[in-house]
Amino acid sequence: MDLGLKGKTAVVTGGGGAICGEIAKGLSEEGARVAVWDLDFQAAKKKVESLAAEPDDALAVECDVLDKKSVERAAEQTIGHFGTVDILINGAGGSRKEATTSPDLDFFDIGTEALSWVVSLNYLSAVIPSQVIGRLFAKKKAGVILNISSVAGFRPLTRSIGYCNGKAATNSFTQWLAVHMAQNYSPEIRVNAVAPGFILTEQNRFLLQDRETGQFTERGEKIVGFVPMARLGRPEEVVGAALWAVSERAGFVTGAVISVDGGFSAYSGV
Ligand code: NAD
Repeated sequence: MDLGLKGKTAVVTGGGGAICGEIAKGLSEEGARVAVWDLDFQAAKKKVESLAAEPDDALAVECDVLDKKSVERAAEQTIGHFGTVDILINGAGGSRKEATTSPDLDFFDIGTEALSWVVSLNYLSAVIPSQVIGRLFAKKKAGVILNISSVAGFRPLTRSIGYCNGKAATNSFTQWLAVHMAQNYSPEIRVNAVAPGFILTEQNRFLLQDRETGQFTERGEKIVGFVPMARLGRPEEVVGAALWAVSERAGFVTGAVISVDGGFSAYSGV
C-alpha cells in the first residue's frame, strides 16, 4: 500500500533515540525527507548518516524542544534546507529518577522542580514544536502532527508519577489540539498520538532483562504478565502505526491516541 509519503518533509524530534530513530528510518524508506531534531546532536547526526537517503534528503539539527528559541532556530534551519514542513512527530520524552518514587524517595518528598521537569519533558515537548510548526501548518492550511505518548498516559504505572502525569497531559493535548486546529485553521490539519507500551531499548534493558541470561527481572516479569502477547515490544514495531497516522491513508483520523502495546491497555488482569 502506498502511504503517499514520498517527497513529504517530516520533522522527528528525539529522532536520535530508539523509537523515533526507527520512525525516522521508516519515513526515509517511504521516500520522505527527514529532519532529525535532537538535544544530542551526535545522536541525530549518527541517525541521519545511517539513513539510506540522498544526503540532501536528511538533516540533523541540534534542538532543545523545551526552549522555544531553540525550536524556532531548528524550524528556520529545516525550512531553509527543505523549503517546508508537512509532518511533525513529537518524540522527545523520558523520565528522571528524582520524579519517581523508590525505597529512598517517598511521594511526600518528591521535589516540584524534578516533577515539573519531567512533566515538561513529556508535555511541553509536544506543545512547543506544535506552536512553532503549527503556525506554518495554519498558514498552509495543511499538516500532520503526531505525538509519541505512552500507555502510561491512560492509566498510571506505579512509581513514575512525573512520567505518567506528563503523558496523560500529552494525550489531553493531542485531543485538544486536534479540535483547535480543525475548527480554527483547517480540517486538513490532523493531530494524533501513538501510545507505545513497553518497548525494550538499550536505556531500559537493565531494568527489564538480565543482560547475561536474557531472563526478565522481577519488574520485567511483572510487566510481561500484563501483556496479553506475553512479550515486550521492539522499537521498529511502533513504526507502522506512526507512518499510517501521518499518511493520507489516515485522512479522517484526528484526535486519536493509538495504543501499540501488545494488548496491555486492553487487559484488566483478570
Ligand atoms: P530514547 O531515550 O531512546 O530517545 C529519546 C530522545 O529524545 C533521545 O535521543 C534524547 O536525546 C532526546 N531528547 C531528550 N530531551 C530532549 C529535548 N529537550 N530536546 C530534544 N531532544 C531531546 O527514548 P525512547 O525509548 O526511544 O522513547 C521515545 C519516546 O517514546 C519518548 O517520548 C518516550 O517517552 C516514548 N515511549 C517510550 C517507551 C519505551 O518503552 N521505550 C514506551 C512508551 C513511550
